Amino acid sequence: MTRAAIALTSLALGLAGVVLIGDQRAWDNALSSPQTLLIVLVGMGQLARLAGHPMLARLLLVCALAPLMLALSSYLLPEYWISLATWDSLAHRFLPGSLLDDWRPALLATLSLALLAVNAWLGERPNLGSPLLLGTVALLLVIQGLESLPNATAHQVLRYAASPTQQLTQWGLLLAQGLAFLPIGYAERHNLHRPLWPALALVGVTLLFWHQQKALEDRTLRAEVHAQGQQLAGHTTHEFKEHVAAMHRFANSWNLLDSAPTVEQWALQTAPYYRDFRYFLNIAFINLDSRVIRVYPVQPNLQVLGARLFDVQPEGREALSQALFHGRVGRTGVVELLQGGPGIIHYLPVTSADDGRILGAAAMVVSLPVLMGTFFDEVDTGRMFLELRQGETTLVQLGPTTGLGPWQHQASLDVAGQSLTLVTRPSRALLLERRARLPVVGLATGLTLAYLLYLVLYAYRRLALQHRALHRSNIELRHEVQARAKLQQEIEWLARHDELTALPNRRLFMETLKAQAERRPLSVLICDVDHFKQVNDHQGHLIGDRYLKSLSEVGREIVEEAGGLFARYGGEEFVACLPACDAHSSLAVAERLRERMQEENLLHHDGRQLTVSIGLATLEDGPLDIAALMQAADEALYQAKASGRDRVVCASGDASLETRR
Ligand code: GH3
Ligand code: MG
Ligand code: MG
Repeated sequence: MTRAAIALTSLALGLAGVVLIGDQRAWDNALSSPQTLLIVLVGMGQLARLAGHPMLARLLLVCALAPLMLALSSYLLPEYWISLATWDSLAHRFLPGSLLDDWRPALLATLSLALLAVNAWLGERPNLGSPLLLGTVALLLVIQGLESLPNATAHQVLRYAASPTQQLTQWGLLLAQGLAFLPIGYAERHNLHRPLWPALALVGVTLLFWHQQKALEDRTLRAEVHAQGQQLAGHTTHEFKEHVAAMHRFANSWNLLDSAPTVEQWALQTAPYYRDFRYFLNIAFINLDSRVIRVYPVQPNLQVLGARLFDVQPEGREALSQALFHGRVGRTGVVELLQGGPGIIHYLPVTSADDGRILGAAAMVVSLPVLMGTFFDEVDTGRMFLELRQGETTLVQLGPTTGLGPWQHQASLDVAGQSLTLVTRPSRALLLERRARLPVVGLATGLTLAYLLYLVLYAYRRLALQHRALHRSNIELRHEVQARAKLQQEIEWLARHDELTALPNRRLFMETLKAQAERRPLSVLICDVDHFKQVNDHQGHLIGDRYLKSLSEVGREIVEEAGGLFARYGGEEFVACLPACDAHSSLAVAERLRERMQEENLLHHDGRQLTVSIGLATLEDGPLDIAALMQAADEALYQAKASGRDRVVCASGDASLETRR
């Protein structure tokens, strides 16, 4: 798998290399294609890690991650924290002549590359979120694919997606990382389901939310520019109406004269209008021969003084004739002015106050560039492109013509009866500045939360599993302890009891006897079954065992009644310890024992009753010598056997008592 991952990474790197070489511009100045260089850095870091050079890998990945983090902050930080101009100057410092937008990768590409780099750094670690990082990069790449579709890119202010080849390269890197992760992921698959799906779902929701937010923000931005354009157009139309009204007032004031104005009169009369309406190029007096005989201001317009308009400006002839010959206000369309540039000229007839004779015409020359400059002086024409059009003809352009935003707005306006179109198109820089950060901040926050959610769920899952295993082993341990305690009890019991008859064994008997060392009188008896061998021989061991059990039950009952301990001494021999029993009472116990055992009616194979012989010894006073006491009882037993069995022989002191039924 690692080999396949290495091969795939190399392939992706090769593709990135081809892109770099293929892009002639990039080859001339490799830094002009920094996005591809960043991909190459991430790919090389990934390759180094897969090939087992972690230090080199980290070095390369840091080199990629640092600019990627910088790019991400340029998307996230608000304009009033770090302005676009600051970012641009920063970019310029590192790469002379470049702007922020030239080097930073597209938004989603920045994120996907950063996540690829982080995952390459962390390695195949499910506990640090490898599968989520891989899944998120896949989703980001899918969205980049969708964002690269032509209809999606048309109106974008920000670049969201890397170029198709860059996307392909990233897919290659992602697949290589996926291959390297596959064996670990497969082994851990049961632990991955629970944290992975909710976290991936959160990533999906975040991306959807981001998409909706950015569409909304883009629309708001467009609406703002649209409103600004409409406002400018309305303002211009309104201003121009005022201007026409003012011209009429101006023309009427000439009706009071009876001859062509002198230079001074003309200057006096026109100066206030010229000053108020700053877009007049000049105000001239035209005589009946269409010659310009007065002009205000004089200096900048010397070239037109004396010009015969019918000759030099034939396209205005119709309008001028209206004023000179018919006494009506004449108005040219948009004409090329004698001073250069497009403009509109109003000709107003000037008549004599005495006889109404037409003396000439006042020409009010409106320069459209000056008009636009005047009306739009509150517009930042450094960052807003304005164009005045008549039909398809461009009349005036203001502002930058390069680095413009992706869309423009058109508004129609009426300038002195001329229907013109005002085109407003903001520069990209202006839009980038005004762009709301909220969608990007939301995206980054959502992805971070998804990552944290994964980590928490994964840790929780691991803890739960550990807890379960611990609980299981706890139960097992408890069972083990219980079993051992039971075994221990059994062992302890077996150490002091006989398994067949459940009577105390020789050891417990001896311990009990020792414990009674101070009790006087103290009697012991040994009871041996007569001819027991024959039972075994003729009736089998099972019957022999059953007989032993019956005898032991009887023995226990009688001896315990007398406050003593009845034990199995070994084979078919039983012993009893009778504390506080003198020779007589112990003899009575022994006798009762012998009788009761006989009453059990246990028979030999030939119908004879099974009998027992008992040897009895009592210590009335003096120190206890267990061996001697037992010896005495044993000898008494021997005597009982020797004297015909089925009897009790007592070896108490000198007097030897014997009973027989
Ligand atoms: P005596 O009257 O002289 O005591 O004759 P006896 O046949 O009882 O002779 P002895 O005491 O030497 O034989 C004991 C026999 O008890 C030998 C053995 O087969 C039998 N025996 C000892 N322990 C057990 C046991 O746990 N189960 C059975 N079925 N037989 C046992
Ligand atoms: Mg015996
Ligand atoms: Mg015997």
